[in-house]
Amino acid sequence: MEFGTMFSNLFGKEKAKEEQKSQWIKCPKCTSLMYYKEVEAIQNVCPKCNHHFRINADKRIASIADEGSFVEHDERLAPVDPLKFSDKKSYKKRLEEAKAKTGKTSSVVSGSCTVNNNPAELVVFDFAFMGGSLGSVEGEKIVRAVDRAIEKGCGVIIVSASGGARMQESTYALLQMSKTSAALKRLDHKGLPFISILTDPTMGGVSASFAMLGDIIIAEPGALIGFAGQRVIKQTVGVDLPEGFQRSEFLLEHGLIDMVVDRGSIKQTVADMLTLFSDEKQPDLAVFDSGEHTEAAESEES
Ligand SMILES: [Zn+2]
Repeated sequence: MEFGTMFSNLFGKEKAKEEQKSQWIKCPKCTSLMYYKEVEAIQNVCPKCNHHFRINADKRIASIADEGSFVEHDERLAPVDPLKFSDKKSYKKRLEEAKAKTGKTSSVVSGSCTVNNNPAELVVFDFAFMGGSLGSVEGEKIVRAVDRAIEKGCGVIIVSASGGARMQESTYALLQMSKTSAALKRLDHKGLPFISILTDPTMGGVSASFAMLGDIIIAEPGALIGFAGQRVIKQTVGVDLPEGFQRSEFLLEHGLIDMVVDRGSIKQTVADMLTLFSDEKQPDLAVFDSGEHTEAAESEES
């Protein structure tokens, strides 16, 4: 296919360019200069100051799923441009650029996997694809992952890295907030766990919907988490805001999230949670199967 060839050429060139310039990296927090391969080998965390670099969807999946267990679903779902939206560039053009840059068709990769042998549905955001924004395809992929989890009786893990709802899809993007939240309620009715992992950054419509609905909410150290940006809040409320008020550690201290976990320990933590919830859910399931919860779930869908 012509487009396929063009796409792989673009991606190949981009990759070679990337490799050349990425031999050395500078930590934005402690300014240490480090050999990229060495940092990559320790899950892209600065060995000097524990700064967690942003990572792409593939690396994220590799850091959580058991090796070789991840089976991607819905990879052919790609955004359309229902509003024929254009700002400085057309949405169509932005999508093409994002595809060439990341090799993905949307900002979300979803699939089935095991985590230390616990089955789960895993959804990860790739911030490099249009700022990890939530559009109609991303919302649909999340809902389908939840539906698969309900069918299989397993938990859902969503790793967020997003600036929020995708403005190029306007209301279609905003609708995904309620659509994903409703799907997670159905999961809840089945007594199945949702583990939400917040990484740098988790903002806007993503933090204002599914990302904050986890049975357990885990954040990586130092991640920027909030709804509006600091400048906007300051202009609105007219007071100086506390230092680091939108970072993981501050949010943990103030009870908005459950734990801050280093990237290297997230897999084990998630596996422990899945085991814990799967042991707990057994007696509850009998109750859910026989009564009102099922009805409630059905009426919600209609
Ligand atoms: Zn550092």
